[in-house]
Amino acid sequence: MSVKQILTTGHPALRVKAKKIKRVDPAIVKLIDDLLETMHAANGLGLAAPQIGVSLRVLVIEIPEDKDDPHSGERVVLCNPEVINAEGEQVGEEGCLSIPGYVGIIRRAKKVTVKGLNRKGKEVRVKGEGLLARALQHEIDHLDGILFTDRLEKPGDLFRINEQHEREAVFPNAGERKQRASAPMIA
Ligand code: ZN
Repeated sequence: MSVKQILTTGHPALRVKAKKIKRVDPAIVKLIDDLLETMHAANGLGLAAPQIGVSLRVLVIEIPEDKDDPHSGERVVLCNPEVINAEGEQVGEEGCLSIPGYVGIIRRAKKVTVKGLNRKGKEVRVKGEGLLARALQHEIDHLDGILFTDRLEKPGDLFRINEQHEREAVFPNAGERKQRASAPMIA
């Protein structure tokens, strides 16, 4: 395992549609472990292979411990993920390890069911709601070369964020200047 460099916005690898893996072989297991270690080192809750420059459809997610989250502490590893069901709507803050220092207000499905291969190469279905649903959609977007900023509905929905998780409007007169926020999802 090793901590890899996370590519940031502007790097062309983030904009490529990643390829499906053929099977979960030892090289893919190593990729999964590198993604987990890199995600932990960066304090993110999700990471997709293109973010470390590997154009394969592999993602990892780890939901922080939180008694109010039905997925508290859950770890998800998926290869070749496919959304097979999406329901409802949630609008909330979202950030990205590849776009450091910013969060956006992004609309996502509230619940998703995703099928894919786990770390053992077995086909699994992952049902997620709330934060896990958001993270799954965010990471699958990475596999298609899509960043959260592509999904902003208006420029005023993008904020700079500081270490205290306070956000500040990127565009003056966007309405909301500074607001105390809880730690946003960064993945
Ligand atoms: Zn991201």
